[in-house]
Amino acid sequence: QERQAVLACRSVSKTYGSQTAVSDVTLDVAPGEVVGLLGANGAGKTTLMRMACGLVKPTAGAVRVLGEQPPYPPAVARQVGAALDTPAFYRWMTGPAQLRSLLHSSGLPDRGEPLAALRRVGLEDEARKRIRAYSQGMRQRLALAAALMRGPRLLVLDEPTNALDPHAVVMVRELIRREAESGTAVLVSSHQLDEVQRVCDRVVVMDRGTVVASGALDEIGLGGAESLEDWFFR
Ligand code: ATP
Repeated sequence: QERQAVLACRSVSKTYGSQTAVSDVTLDVAPGEVVGLLGANGAGKTTLMRMACGLVKPTAGAVRVLGEQPPYPPAVARQVGAALDTPAFYRWMTGPAQLRSLLHSSGLPDRGEPLAALRRVGLEDEARKRIRAYSQGMRQRLALAAALMRGPRLLVLDEPTNALDPHAVVMVRELIRREAESGTAVLVSSHQLDEVQRVCDRVVVMDRGTVVASGALDEIGLGGAESLEDWFFR
């Protein structure tokens, strides 16, 4: 398991001055597996995801993707698809032009991935619109398309459905499952229990920077839980 993990975090910590954002977290994500990251606001989920993507340097411990530590060599960086906070898109570009520009800046060829990725997130009808005319939910789906079009081995998604309408929520959840079934390792944060129950194989629950529970949903009593609050305060 450890040998083949796509993402391996070993005793990872991150402090900002005297503030501890992440403390001694160990976590693996294997190919084809969806691992959910749960926890209250400020628990450290985003910081951990940013470290996984090589955007934030741990103050202690080690993060490895496909065996490499950040800064990831281009061959590894290309295989990481991330949709964290909605990125600063070029507002005057159309969706496909923005995706092509992102491929280009990563040194990747365009073999039609932008349009295919737009279709996968249900944005094909918006392809001629400029991004300034996209809604928040459309931008969030564009960020997901940007992550998908890389054909990633690791997909890191920070609350991928929080701004989406119910139809798009269902579509994105199915897409995450399908992506995992094709072998991608997925790390996804969520505050929604039904999402976690539908999408995740395993969860890691964080509180004030540390892991307070982890395992399959049934193992930690989340499988049949009615609400995350009840489980947290049980
Ligand atoms: P949310 O559910 O609100 O997204 P989170 O679990 O993603 O929360 P983080 O964003 O990782 O939490 O934040 C963890 C802690 O680290 C918080 O106390 C936050 O204030 C702190 N923190 C995060 N980034 C920084 C930073 N750049 N400088 C200082 N403190 C930070």
